[in-house]
Amino acid sequence: MSSERSLQTATTLRVGGVPRFWESVTSPSQLVTLIQQTDADGTACRILGGGSNVLAREGALDCAVVEIRNQNIAVEEDGDMVLVTVGAGVLWDDLVGFTVENGWWGLENLSAIPGTVGAAPVQNVGAYGVELSEVCVSAHVYDRAHMKFLTFQASDMQFAYRSSLFKRDPLRYVIWDVAVRLSKKPSRQLAYKDLEAYFGTGSIPSIAEVRGGIMAIRRGKFPDISIIGTAGSFFKNPIISREMYEGVQKQFPQLPHYAIENDTAVKIPIAYILEQLGYKGHRDNSVGMHDAHALVLVTYDGATSIAVDAFAKKIEKSVESSTGIVLEREVQFFP
Ligand code: NAP
Repeated sequence: MSSERSLQTATTLRVGGVPRFWESVTSPSQLVTLIQQTDADGTACRILGGGSNVLAREGALDCAVVEIRNQNIAVEEDGDMVLVTVGAGVLWDDLVGFTVENGWWGLENLSAIPGTVGAAPVQNVGAYGVELSEVCVSAHVYDRAHMKFLTFQASDMQFAYRSSLFKRDPLRYVIWDVAVRLSKKPSRQLAYKDLEAYFGTGSIPSIAEVRGGIMAIRRGKFPDISIIGTAGSFFKNPIISREMYEGVQKQFPQLPHYAIENDTAVKIPIAYILEQLGYKGHRDNSVGMHDAHALVLVTYDGATSIAVDAFAKKIEKSVESSTGIVLEREVQFFP
């Protein structure tokens, strides 16, 4: 048990204070014992994954921060399919690299996303036309309300765009491992504009080339978290009614849009509007928007959670007053 480490060094936005204590757990029984202890003495117990989607508050934080260190990977091959069960503590991109090296298709478009495997179902991570929900089979999860481990099938997880049951009820569940089903047969998903531009129409890249291409595209648009504070996309790309889109389009005639399900709603790249509103590269002292991507908030020396929140509120207000769109944050306060 330790108490010196600050969330500033454990989160990619590089802000935050010092929790009452830190703990790492490597076995399910250790997790259960720790949760029972903290529940008994009234200490709030918060699980931290890769720290890449959280905005930690400053000061002495009245909570325990727990990191799940389950690093196990189990593989079961079944004909052309492969079931990979992965511990929550494995880095997401290490998992993607491992599956790509083995030639198992399904996760390659999700290359270079920061964070851990345990955090991936919470957010239903997605990129370039692929979402975790498409390959996720099940997860072992500790349910703090019923104090027992459960196996959730993917259909139980209420997956939606950047959301799931675990996101809707964040304090209740602790993800211990996640199983994904991948294919030995190629299944390329290259329809996104950035991918078409990179690979060229009609090309048939190998799985390693798809991963390499996505890493190169992301390097060009997203900042390097080892150099600058950021949590990637700070807001979700909004899904709005067609009617609302038609209104916003009058103001931004070139605004791209993508039809959702039955065509009554559309998803819009909010970075486009943020750029038109002048936020690309805009900076208020220690907080700003990245100069290569208007949806990516970045922090500089001296940033605090208060400054990040104030900057985000300024953007939310500006988008709502100019378009009526109420932005939803991907990044959540912690604890
Ligand atoms: P982008 O490729 O410029 O796309 C911006 C928006 O347009 C996204 O909402 C994207 O949908 C949508 N879009 C673009 N082409 C589309 C198509 N052909 N069909 C349907 N929708 C389309 O996004 P970016 O900011 O550079 O990010 C690259 C990818 O990484 C995106 O897929 C983005 O969503 C993803 N990403 C995910 C996370 C996360 O999981 N937390 C964080 C950062 C970025 P989608 O969002 O559905 O892809």
